[in-house]
Amino acid sequence: KSFSDFKFNKQIWDAIAEAGYTVPTEIQEKAIMPTLAGQDIMGIAQTGTGKTAAFVLPLLMKLKYAQGQDARALILTPTRELAMQIEENIQQFSTYLDLRTVLLFGGLGPKTQKEKLKLGVDIIVATPGRFLELYLDGDINTKSLKFLVMDEADKMMDMGFIGKIHRILEVVPRKRQNLLYSATMSELVRKIAGDFLAFPTVIEV
Ligand code: AMP
Repeated sequence: KSFSDFKFNKQIWDAIAEAGYTVPTEIQEKAIMPTLAGQDIMGIAQTGTGKTAAFVLPLLMKLKYAQGQDARALILTPTRELAMQIEENIQQFSTYLDLRTVLLFGGLGPKTQKEKLKLGVDIIVATPGRFLELYLDGDINTKSLKFLVMDEADKMMDMGFIGKIHRILEVVPRKRQNLLYSATMSELVRKIAGDFLAFPTVIEV
């Protein structure tokens, strides 16, 4: 398989080439097509397998250009470091696209994040606590969300985010595409996957 099999548009294709990616990794090979087709995904893949691009690339392809005020994609991740890595990947592959990404995490004041949200956003990359805090403050409208990604679901569970995840699931539209990635499969991950995903394509690498 090659990246050209995925029919990415020219803007994404150029960014992939500039990143020096030539061959898709196994998780990319297996996950990109069903993600583009609109299926829910449960991906079991460790860091280092290329799992970030496996969800970022098809997501960018689906979002394409800036649209409206409110985010269409929400990517939840357990830590600030992971959030920053994902945002870097998004920036890297959206160089030639016109998409607005906001990074939300705790440990610093919310002022700048709130101001950025006010300008309009397509993708939110967030840790669960700060996302909820800003949602409850009225800074985030969830009605336009079409895509929900949970990265490192096992770590989310280990860090005790299950309550916050359930709270978030209550305030996002029911009709949406869900992508869940986890390094390992545990009872708790299976449980959250059951609450979160509809008839997922399960991919294990
Ligand atoms: P991840 O598992 O998403 O944290 O990615 C691990 C590393 O692999 C990152 O530095 C990526 O930029 C890199 N990477 C991901 N996919 C590919 C690919 N198809 N070809 C070359 N490098 C890649």
